[in-house]
Amino acid sequence: MLLQELPADLNSMVFSLAVLFIATVAYVLFMLSLPVQPHAHQRLALQLFTLFFVSAFVAYLLYCLRFFGFYSWSVVSNNLMYLLGNYFFYLAVRARYNQTNSTTLYLGLVVHLVLLSALMWYFSVVQDKVMVRLPIFLLSLCVPLLLSYITIRQCRSSGNTGDNILLLGCLSAMLVLPLLYPLFSFILTPDAQGQLYVTALVSLALETLCIGGVAMSYIYDLIDKLRHDAHTDKLTAAKNRRYFFRFAPQKIQEAQAQQQEVSLVMMDLDFFKQVNDNYGHQVGDELLTAFASLLLSRIGHNDLLARYGGEEFVLLLPGKNLAEATMFVNQIRSSLQQQPVLTQSMTTTEPFYISASFGLTLCQPGQQLEAMIRQADAALLRAKQAGRNRLELA
Ligand code: GH3
Ligand code: MG
Ligand code: MG
Repeated sequence: MLLQELPADLNSMVFSLAVLFIATVAYVLFMLSLPVQPHAHQRLALQLFTLFFVSAFVAYLLYCLRFFGFYSWSVVSNNLMYLLGNYFFYLAVRARYNQTNSTTLYLGLVVHLVLLSALMWYFSVVQDKVMVRLPIFLLSLCVPLLLSYITIRQCRSSGNTGDNILLLGCLSAMLVLPLLYPLFSFILTPDAQGQLYVTALVSLALETLCIGGVAMSYIYDLIDKLRHDAHTDKLTAAKNRRYFFRFAPQKIQEAQAQQQEVSLVMMDLDFFKQVNDNYGHQVGDELLTAFASLLLSRIGHNDLLARYGGEEFVLLLPGKNLAEATMFVNQIRSSLQQQPVLTQSMTTTEPFYISASFGLTLCQPGQQLEAMIRQADAALLRAKQAGRNRLELA
């Protein structure tokens, strides 16, 4: 088409292609350098994001073809590649948030791609109408972007800045892409050189937002996981001792500021050493986990259960006075008495019951946490000495 303009255009083309190539290689290397994700969905998400970056570069290459005489080919293949790239982005977002895809979705995607190709072919080969073609193409691109926007909004986790950057990326793309129509048609009416620059620039800006969002989103996930692991006991899923000493004082203060009472329970499984000796450590582990699960299923969202050590747990009950805490403990005791614990590694078919002893204290305003624990521990010791499977008050 514009062969006589080649020298000036060629410069812009080579420059834009070089910039986009370097950016694409950097983005792809970055994606490959992210730590291997343990979940298949997450690995797929990274592969799809990588495909999105690569397809955006390929689309630009195809766009350049029109300056070498392959006008219709370039129009159809370039628009198709941009739309496919945006669908890679949408599928990547879905995988990122562990969404599974239905056949209808793939079918819709294929229909959209075929329909756009047909329209682009018609409006470049049969009637060369760029002013019709351009809005159809730009609005088409907004479909996967809008779907991605909805998915991210539904699935993002609060406090994950990366998710919000991805959301911003979708929103910016949905605003910027339709704006290209009046920009190309009425305001700038750029020549070939200008079009090459604007297209490259928009592509680069949106991809940069996307890579920032993806990177941040994974980094925040990692921080969440590290924080969770650092606070949680691996075997029982209760909080660990470090977490308890860090957050229990805060919870006590908050409750007491609202004139609420706070109870603290120390508990220890009875004759647990015998379980290990008679049935093995594996069975012991399973009983410990079962005991913690029972407690975790019964406590409220503001209560705090931690593994204090070995087979000893500490439970903070903000908002519960001695009578309420006693009732709670007795419910746990009767559950243990009524429900046998099922373990996978145990060979015996006999129902297996465990019991525990409990020491309970009421937190006094201004009292140190260590002092409360000492009191509850002393009560627990008395419960053991009095024959176990019982509750003693401090
Ligand atoms: P008591 O009724 O007086 O509490 O008797 P006990 O046998 O439960 O008391 P003791 O504190 O002497 O024994 C606790 C046992 O718990 C010793 C240890 O082998 C076992 N234990 C501690 N942590 C774990 C664990 O993570 N897994 C298993 N399987 N056993 C553990
Ligand atoms: Mg014990
Ligand atoms: Mg013990």
